[in-house]
Formats: sequence, C-alpha cells, structure tokens
Amino acid sequence: MFDYLIVGAGFAGSVLAERLASQDDRKVLVVDKRPHIAGNAYDHYDDAGILVHKYGPHIFHCNAPEIHAYLSQFTAWRPYQHRVLASVDGQLVPIPINLDTVNKLYGMNLTAFQMEEFLASVAEPRERILTSEDVVVSKVGKDLYKKFFRGYTRKQWGLDPSELDAAVTARIPTRTNRDDRYFTDTYQTMPLHGYTRMFEKMLAHPNIKVMLNTDYREIEPFIPYREMIYTGPIDAFFDERYGKLPYRSLEFKFETHDTPVYQQTGTINYPNDEAYTRITEFKYLTGQEHPKTSIVYEYPRAEGDPYYPVPRPENNERYKQYQALAEQTPNVHFVGRLATYKYYNMDQVVAQALTLYNRLSNSRRILASASGTSSDGTLRNT
Ligand code: FAD
Ligand code: UDP
Repeated sequence: MFDYLIVGAGFAGSVLAERLASQDDRKVLVVDKRPHIAGNAYDHYDDAGILVHKYGPHIFHCNAPEIHAYLSQFTAWRPYQHRVLASVDGQLVPIPINLDTVNKLYGMNLTAFQMEEFLASVAEPRERILTSEDVVVSKVGKDLYKKFFRGYTRKQWGLDPSELDAAVTARIPTRTNRDDRYFTDTYQTMPLHGYTRMFEKMLAHPNIKVMLNTDYREIEPFIPYREMIYTGPIDAFFDERYGKLPYRSLEFKFETHDTPVYQQTGTINYPNDEAYTRITEFKYLTGQEHPKTSIVYEYPRAEGDPYYPVPRPENNERYKQYQALAEQTPNVHFVGRLATYKYYNMDQVVAQALTLYNRLSNSRRILASASGTSSDGTLRNT
C-alpha cells in the first residue's frame, strides 16, 4: 500500500515525494506519462553532446533563502545572470527596456534622470491597471509598447495584451538605469550538472518508486494508495466538466551549429517580424564548453502539451469552478502550475509544494496525537 500516489514528476510532484519520503517516512509512488522525470524542467545531452532544455530555456531565480537552501541539498550551483536582447527596428537592444534601449533606439544620449523625464512624457497614465496593455502603456507609452510588447504578446498568447491580465507583462520591468539583467533576484543560479541530475537526487530514496511512460488513469484502479497528489491539468482531472481550460503551448525547434558561439547573449527576443518569439543558446545558461553550440526557437501554438495557463478573467472564473470541485474531492491534493492554473515560475512551484507538504505533515501529526498513534501510524508507546 502506498501512502501517496503522486501524478507528475516535475517540481511540484518531486518536491512532495522527496519531503514525504525523507521526512515523514511515507511510501510514495510517482507516476509520469512522459518517459522522464523533471517535468518541464527536464534537460538532457543532445546528439552533439550539448546540454539542452527539452521544454524551452529554464533559468532559476528566486529571492527566498529557504527555497534556495532546500534545493541546494540536491545540487551544487553555478552563478548565472540572464541577459536578453530584443530585435527591434533592425537593431539588437536590451529588454527589459532600460536607458540604453531608449538611447540606442531613438539615437539619443539621455542620462538616467532625463530618461525618467522622457518616460513621463511618453507614458499614457491609466486610471486602472487591469490588462497587460495598461501596464506597459501607462509606463512607457504606445510606441515602445508596440515595438516590444504588442507583437510579442499577440504571438505568444494568440491574444492582444488588452485581453490578458496585467500580471503577464508586469513580469517585465522598465528601468531608467543601465541594468540589463533579465532578473534582479537575490539568487540567480543554475544547477551545476543540470536539472535532471538534481531531480534524480531528489527522487533517490528507498521510499520512492517512480513509474514513467504511464498515465495515472491506467494504473490508478489497480494500485492501492491512501491519498493522491495531482500536478497535471486540473480540467483534465475532472474530464473537462466545465469546459476546457485554455493552456498555451509551444513548439520547439532545436539546431546545432558548428561554431562555438551563435548569438551575442543567452536569449534574443523577436517581438515583431518572425513566427518565433525567441531564440536561446544553451551554453550561456549552462556554462558548458564545447566546440559546437545548440539553440532553440520557440513557436507559440494553441494545441500541444499544456505549458502556460492563460491569465484572463473568464479563464480565472472557470478555474474557480474547478477549484471548488477540487476542494470537495477528498484525499486528492492539487498543486503546481497546471493543477492550480497559475503562471508560476519554478521557485514559486517549489514554495507551493513545500507549503502543501507542511500542511499534510502537520495534519497527520495532529490526527496522530488525537488518536494516540505516532505520526507514522503505529501505536504510541505511552
Ligand atoms: P510540470 O513540470 O508541468 O510537471 C507536471 C507533470 O505531470 C508533467 O511531467 C506531466 O507529464 C505530468 N502529467 C500530467 N498529466 C499526467 C497524467 N495524466 N498522468 C501522468 N503524468 C501526468 N520557470 C522559471 O522559474 N524560470 C524559467 O526560466 C522558466 N522558463 C520556462 C520556459 C518555458 C517554455 C515554460 C513552458 C516554463 C518555464 N518555466 C520557468 C516554468 C516552469 O517550467 C514551471 O514553473 C515548473 O516546471 C512547473 O512544475 P510543475 O511540477 O507544476 O509542472
Ligand atoms: N513580453 C513581451 N516582449 C518581450 C518579453 C516579454 O511582450 O520582449 C511579454 C509577453 O506577453 C510574455 C510576458 O511578457 O509572454 C512574460 O515574459 P517572460 O519572458 O517572463 O515569459 P516566459 O519566460 O514565462 O515565457
């Protein structure tokens, strides 16, 4: 008998498996329908021997020391600060928009102070910031919005920024200084030997069994377990009873080039003229030295593996219906980006999983002390 059946071997499922097995001595079965662990963070060596991320570039960044410390049990790190250029009007300029972006684009020579004045002069303040268009236009005005955000967002989401929650483009700040880092978090580090290796260490515990290439629905009726932790799409769990929740997908096109370097920086964004949104060169992210280099193009798609929840009011409403069902479903816990329909980064999923672990662990302890058993279910010796 397993204490937990965990659906999904990504961050959400693997963190919970690791905690429950190693801290609470629970017996856990982790099932994933893919042929590998690590979920969307999976990385592997391609035919040329270059470490690539199968589901698009994954850059770890977080501000919480406890999240970084938790993952540090399973990996050493290499410092990496991601930098991105955008291809706009035939030039490559920094994104997030900063002082150099504006100076280069408009052939100006502003100081940081003048940049603030410039932005104030072009910004179109909006009374309420509700959509992804409001966020950007109210800060940088229409021209920069159109050059950097409108086309990219339409491509990435198949929606105009005015149809998406403010939180989507609010991920990208605007700067009046020359800081050209994509993230400014305290911890910006990549797992030294890759994500998959880190997940292998997390799952290497005698209480954890992993079953790959298996949809949980195939085995669930035959495997005795007490509780389920589900990290797949929440609408699929309930057979799309309230209709499909939209998830945006991507198609990845990988290439290997016979030169050590392909482009100037880790990622180049293509907001306007191309069918893809960005090209990433993995060696910047991983620090690998190799005479060749591998890159990936991201082409947004409506169909395919679910990668992004689509944050907008009607989808959030539909998610709330599923959430209410989830709350009435005994012994099943929903966690992760797809199961809670949240546009979460990896660190946020780890935090969400650790919170669920604490809740499960505490309630078991409370129950055990009320019933006079120890928290692992055996009779207490009093
Ligand atoms: P997942 O990793 O999706 O894991 C869910 C697992 O459940 C999957 O492996 C799936 O196969 C399995 N599953 C689903 N249904 C079933 C079923 N019926 N039976 C069995 N198994 C099932 N985050 C960052 O912090 N930094 C980044 O730079 C970054 N870049 C990203 C780039 C892209 C292109 C994408 C798509 C995401 C990116 N993220 C990034 C987000 C990151 O991928 C997620 O936050 C994280 O991987 C979510 O983990 P999860 O466990 O919730 O979900
Ligand atoms: N975005 C944009 N132009 C850019 C970069 C981002 O319009 O050059 C918008 C776009 O809507 C994108 C969102 O901001 O989906 C979040 O960007 P991020 O780079 O965080 O996306 P992710 O890495 O999650 O795909």
